[in-house]
Amino acid sequence: MDLQFNVAQLLKEPIGGTRQYEIDTTYESEGLVVRSPLIGRVKLLNTGRSILVKGVFQLTVELVCSRCLTPFLQHLDFSVEEEFLPTIPVGGMAPVVKEEEDVDEDLFIDAHQILHLEETVRQYILLNIPVHPLCRPDCKGLCPICGQNLNEGTCNCREEEVDPRWAVLMDLSKKE
Ligand SMILES: [Zn+2]
Ligand SMILES: [Zn+2]
Repeated sequence: MDLQFNVAQLLKEPIGGTRQYEIDTTYESEGLVVRSPLIGRVKLLNTGRSILVKGVFQLTVELVCSRCLTPFLQHLDFSVEEEFLPTIPVGGMAPVVKEEEDVDEDLFIDAHQILHLEETVRQYILLNIPVHPLCRPDCKGLCPICGQNLNEGTCNCREEEVDPRWAVLMDLSKKE
């Protein structure tokens, strides 16, 4: 997975230095059915105390509709923005002491000056997946009686259901 960036050189450059990368990589993540490459663009900026990462990504995943239980493809379009801190001294940048900074463990540049974006991207993908996925906004779901997928056709269950008010009248007519 190509979401690692060597920032050794960028860290040595003056504040304001940038790098830009095009991302086009196969993507895998546990528990996720991925149906496209991960496509995106990442910009790294030396802020003087950190590397600011801004990225835009696209990915297609397969989800299961929460109403009709049919698998469908969901296109995700999301942007990422995070600040990564160095852990060893470089250039004019003071290294942070992990224990003293209240920063997510994933947002550090490692001792080999590699910035790892995999975990951040994984978290943003999960944030962008709907809690109750729908194959389409007006999904009709399944018939609660026979299980027929109502997007694909109707069933006879509703017609057989009798309105209780009519049932009373029908009872009366039988007695007459
Ligand atoms: Zn559905
Ligand atoms: Zn039915």
